[in-house]
Amino acid sequence: MSVYKLVCPACGSSMRIRSSEGQTPCFRSIYFQCNSLPCGATFSGCMTIDYELSPSGMEQPLLKLPLAPSLERQKALRDQRTPSA
Ligand SMILES: [Zn+2]
Repeated sequence: MSVYKLVCPACGSSMRIRSSEGQTPCFRSIYFQCNSLPCGATFSGCMTIDYELSPSGMEQPLLKLPLAPSLERQKALRDQRTPSA
């Protein structure tokens, strides 16, 4: 499992998610805070889930998203095979 590393756009230090708020099942507002004391910047942004790369194994998924364009699916398959450094 990989963990996405959040990087402060102001200073390049690591950031943490201070809080987040689900607006819909596929859209979440996120509030970020830089971990560097001298910087201390805060940001807001969002996370979206846009497409399905592979279907859910559930018989009746709560939500059915459009299938990602084939180029995006190919890239996701490549990324799964290539361990990130
Ligand atoms: Zn910073």
